[in-house]
Amino acid sequence: MSEQVTGAARDSSSAAERLRVCEIFHSIQGEADAVGWPTVFVRLTGCPLRCVWCDTEYSFQGGEWHDIDDLVAQVGAFDTRHVCVTGGEPLAQKRCLRLLERLCDAGHEVSLETSGALDVSEVDPRVRKVMDLKAPGSGESARNLWSNLAHLQAHDQIKIVIADRADYEWACDVLREHALQQRCMVLFSPVHLKLTPRQLAEWILADRLPVRLQTQMHKQLWGETPGH
Ligand code: SF4
Repeated sequence: MSEQVTGAARDSSSAAERLRVCEIFHSIQGEADAVGWPTVFVRLTGCPLRCVWCDTEYSFQGGEWHDIDDLVAQVGAFDTRHVCVTGGEPLAQKRCLRLLERLCDAGHEVSLETSGALDVSEVDPRVRKVMDLKAPGSGESARNLWSNLAHLQAHDQIKIVIADRADYEWACDVLREHALQQRCMVLFSPVHLKLTPRQLAEWILADRLPVRLQTQMHKQLWGETPGH
């Protein structure tokens, strides 16, 4: 009897430490402050949003369950300092918080790519959050959880993906209204094949904006192929 109870307890505690993972791969970080660094990516399955220009729809479903211990070991085997936990929306799985903590404990430089729609207040403060604010062209602007701004630290980054001039003007308004650049680095990124990086660069320069233009280096290197 006691052996059964112990076994059941063990099963439930191990289930509590599992995450559904779409893919794990080693690549060059193509975005944000860590751009250019060799990085291990852990892409978790699932996202409650449906941005019209999403480039990782393949991560919405499928994947495999992994223990957090196993994930930390798999990441460690790449012998790489930088690790990026992404999705999908990684925070849609609550146990993502534990994975982030464990990766930091293992000595990695950890970043988290998140949609800005889910609460980031419990993310380990050692993690560099790269948090989106969704512009209207995404179709998901109503999902921005504005209270998240209060939980950003100086090492975090806000990313606004811009599809057109209307998105750009929205981003300028938000920048002013919330004094975003006083909170952390702000990245403006054009939607791939919809707005040219050069057009966005010219708008940023003309308006003297205190933001950083971001293109997706991994797409220059490998195009749209998953796993990069
Ligand atoms: S939040 Fe990210 S993963 Fe989810 S639909 Fe939008 S772009 Fe895709």
